[in-house]
Amino acid sequence: MEEGPNLQAAGSLSSTTRGGGLTEKECEDMIQRSLRTPMVKFLKEQMEKSGCRFGDNFIRAVHCDKQIAGGYVRGEGIMVCSNHMNIQDEVNQVVIHELIHAYDDCRAANLDWTNCAHHACSEIRAGHLSGDCHYKREFLRGFMKVRGHEQDCVRRRVMKSVMANPYCSEAAAKDAMEAVWDVCYNDTKPFDRAP
Ligand SMILES: [Zn+2]
Repeated sequence: MEEGPNLQAAGSLSSTTRGGGLTEKECEDMIQRSLRTPMVKFLKEQMEKSGCRFGDNFIRAVHCDKQIAGGYVRGEGIMVCSNHMNIQDEVNQVVIHELIHAYDDCRAANLDWTNCAHHACSEIRAGHLSGDCHYKREFLRGFMKVRGHEQDCVRRRVMKSVMANPYCSEAAAKDAMEAVWDVCYNDTKPFDRAP
């Protein structure tokens, strides 16, 4: 898989990802199952309402050499790294995270993934809204703290993803994240509408 400016890698692999991983077929089955979960159904409906209907092949299982969980590429869709997945919950998380990137790409016609602030904004939203940093998942990763852990966790994952963007140095990623944090963290579309 090419790592290009359009690839929005999902955040760090969880520590539960230590098994042998899934075959692409097993992962495809879990993707199909994820499409029946309320959160994924809701995001799919919201994308359709925004004029971004996606077909059966939009979310695919692939083998990944890089240490990423998945990614989204404009014009191609969402990839879930089968060899880095073990359980349904991990597949659901990647699908939800990447669907938020796809939703952002769809609703913001001028979204520029080479712009570190644009990329950081979508990562903040995807990290926060997907529940990637829910305390149970953080606990499994060994990062549990009592207060402020959710925002710390989102920041850590945003930095990792934006720094992987060849257009964004560590300093640029940090500046971009801080500049857009409040606006993007509080931009909860499409979840601000009652499902
Ligand atoms: Zn992401």
